[in-house]
Amino acid sequence: MMTLEEHYLNVPYHNSLHAADVVQSVHVLLLSPALDSVFTDLETLTALFAAAIHDVDHPGVTNQYLINSSSELALMYNDESVLENHSLAVAFKVLQLEETDIFVNLTKKQRQTLRKMTIDMVLATDMSKHMSLLADLKTMVETKKVAGSGVLLLDNYTERIQVLQNMLHCADLSNPTKRLDIYKRWCESVMEEFFQQGDKERSLGLDISPMCDRYNATIEKSQI
Ligand SMILES: [Zn+2]
Repeated sequence: MMTLEEHYLNVPYHNSLHAADVVQSVHVLLLSPALDSVFTDLETLTALFAAAIHDVDHPGVTNQYLINSSSELALMYNDESVLENHSLAVAFKVLQLEETDIFVNLTKKQRQTLRKMTIDMVLATDMSKHMSLLADLKTMVETKKVAGSGVLLLDNYTERIQVLQNMLHCADLSNPTKRLDIYKRWCESVMEEFFQQGDKERSLGLDISPMCDRYNATIEKSQI
């Protein structure tokens, strides 16, 4: 955890505090009565691990900025979910070192499953996937049978990972669900990060991204 924390950068929002917040929020969601005994120990471990790593080494600018500024990262990942792919790669590199491989006691099969689920979950935190993720969840909620006890029935990988992906995505966007004074602090941090990106765009002569112009922003609208 300390090594992972060191790999988070000192940016206004996407720092290790955001990671800790998302881990805690996933923890709360995992305790939902509707999910009682639904997930295996390995799935629970993966959900918390994915939350912890999901923004590691985030540079405080968006995928679109990295693409528009022809960054090394965008080049590396061919413009596709650049930040999400990068965080996954950084995290799995940390696991390759013997001294930080926290999964040393898992079997090969468990490691493979954990890796696949982590990748599926973290890639689903890309905001460009928001609409399709939401549409699929809506379909699932409308068609899904719930056990007599009120517990959700998830009987294949697609359904299980879909709930886990949405869980991490919800936790990632959960700032407005927190106590108002806490929400306001998150809001200030995320707006400052956006504004710093806008400042960079202005100085590079790029179009200023939505919500990123500190002289022309409505914070309330951004939040909605
Ligand atoms: Zn995040």
